Amino acid sequence: AQARLEEKDPQAAALGYVADSSKADAKKFPKHDNAQLCSGCALWQSKPTDAQGNCALFAGKQVSARGWCSAWAKKA
Ligand code: SF4
Repeated sequence: AQARLEEKDPQAAALGYVADSSKADAKKFPKHDNAQLCSGCALWQSKPTDAQGNCALFAGKQVSARGWCSAWAKKA
């Protein structure tokens, strides 16, 4: 199985990735909303029901379905 993306991974940290969307840095990311989740992001590549999944930005790692990063974009 693929490793989980760590929040301290340099690329993850650069994008403000958190495994729990509600823990996002509200000061740094004022447009963040707790309803924004990896599983509802345009870059999420796994099933909507998966707890962990792939993201187009983090090849070879798994992000949390309930995670978030500053590249979040609403799924069309
Ligand atoms: Fe999650 Fe989207 Fe950021 Fe990928 S781009 S880590 S799916 S919020």
